[in-house]
Amino acid sequence: MRILFVATEGSPFAKSGGLGDVIGSLPYALNKQNVEVRVILPKYESMPSYYKEQLKKKCHMTVNLGWRNQYCGVEELEYKGIHYYFIDNEYYFKRPDHYGYYDDGERFAFFNHAVLKVLPQLDYCPQIIHAHDWHTGMLSVFLKAHYAHIPFYKDMKTIFTIHNLKYQGLFPRSILEDLLHLSQDYFTADKLEFYGQINSMKAGLVYSDLITTVSKTYAQEIKYPFFGEKLDPILNARKESLYGIVNGIDDQDYNPRTDQSIYVNYAECRKKKCENKLNLQQALGLPVRKDVPMLAMITRLVEQKGVDLLIHIFEELMEEDIQFVLLGTGERYYEDYFKHMMAKYPHKVVSNILFDENMSRKIYAGSDLFLMPSRFEPCGLSQLIALRYGTIPIVRETGGLKDTVLSYNTSTGEGNGFSFANYNAHDFLYTIRRALNIYKNPKTWDDIFLNALRSDFSWEHSSKEYLELYQNLINESRP
Ligand code: ADP
Repeated sequence: MRILFVATEGSPFAKSGGLGDVIGSLPYALNKQNVEVRVILPKYESMPSYYKEQLKKKCHMTVNLGWRNQYCGVEELEYKGIHYYFIDNEYYFKRPDHYGYYDDGERFAFFNHAVLKVLPQLDYCPQIIHAHDWHTGMLSVFLKAHYAHIPFYKDMKTIFTIHNLKYQGLFPRSILEDLLHLSQDYFTADKLEFYGQINSMKAGLVYSDLITTVSKTYAQEIKYPFFGEKLDPILNARKESLYGIVNGIDDQDYNPRTDQSIYVNYAECRKKKCENKLNLQQALGLPVRKDVPMLAMITRLVEQKGVDLLIHIFEELMEEDIQFVLLGTGERYYEDYFKHMMAKYPHKVVSNILFDENMSRKIYAGSDLFLMPSRFEPCGLSQLIALRYGTIPIVRETGGLKDTVLSYNTSTGEGNGFSFANYNAHDFLYTIRRALNIYKNPKTWDDIFLNALRSDFSWEHSSKEYLELYQNLINESRP
């Protein structure tokens, strides 16, 4: 089976969130099931030089984008047995960040065109192209509109995975002919038109053979207006082709037994885990105390993550004997708020306003509780990583958080975290207080700690679900 992953981030080459984790780990898990997965990514400026130095040039060509003729190089790297291809164009990708530029529409239109165009030159004909999130939404349209008549592409199928429906890639109508080479016929509500604009996510939803998203609950939620981001009508229309498969993590990479980034490696031993806390407290300039519970949040600072809930109760939370450590970047207001709280509560709060993979691991390992009160959450990987490090998540019951965290039940001893249902700040505070109370009882906490460590969120199970989808799609298309 030949599957091509197309995405705009993949760890360890490029990561700005959960998508990077998934693209960095799922291909490897599928490989173990005898699926030959290759991956195509943009070659960004920020790719670590260690990997850049290992790249081998494969070929180059010109990709036409309206009146523009753009250089497109392809470089290759084999990593953990997977072939990674990188699309090289310095004008589009030699920039400090992955996203957020005025010409993102053009950058990713180029990327999608380039991916399809380079395949014959690479002498590689995948049976399925598996595209991820809005940046690759146009790929299935291009395949159908511009390439399907060429025998090489005739049997290729497409799967599109929604990692977050909120980010859709909206662009003015003018890009249709200018960048996408598509006629005005595509500007209708059943195709690419979306409230007067072109919607890249919608393109993926309309034109791909199958759609998946990253948890079963989110697959249900997005069919309703509250979670559907105005795309619920199309998701309902395609509900027979929509599947939810929960994300896993690379449990060898995120492994407290072997992780080189943390202070002290540990397995099922709370004492050793606690040494990570003491080291972290020292490094962060907090009072070094083993009895004080340390609460952590590692997140994009955006509305989705429930930051407003935390802010609403933050000063009340400060009445408790706790420490709070934040690692995150995002909206200016939130960044400023947490900087201010750090100044106000210097012995309790540390706000690290930066993106730092190494520090994130030290925090996962060193803290006791992990806060994730999301307004919505397609899957969420942070709570899975926290569980892997025996750090107990407190989550709101939505999307993948609902599917992966089971609230601790004192009578049965079951549960790997704490959860609350309504998007309500005091429900959140009450749940934190409940956890803090239980934390005072070391025997009970040991149980929760072990339940967390023993939760299995490797790709073992979910990669088999993908495999089955691939198999069915390929079989369907056989005459
Ligand atoms: P999302 O993809 O919506 O941002 P996820 O929970 O699915 O949220 O994945 C977030 C990933 O990004 C996790 O691996 C988390 O550890 C990482 N991450 C988020 N913020 C930071 C940060 N400031 N520094 C380092 N890693 C971060």
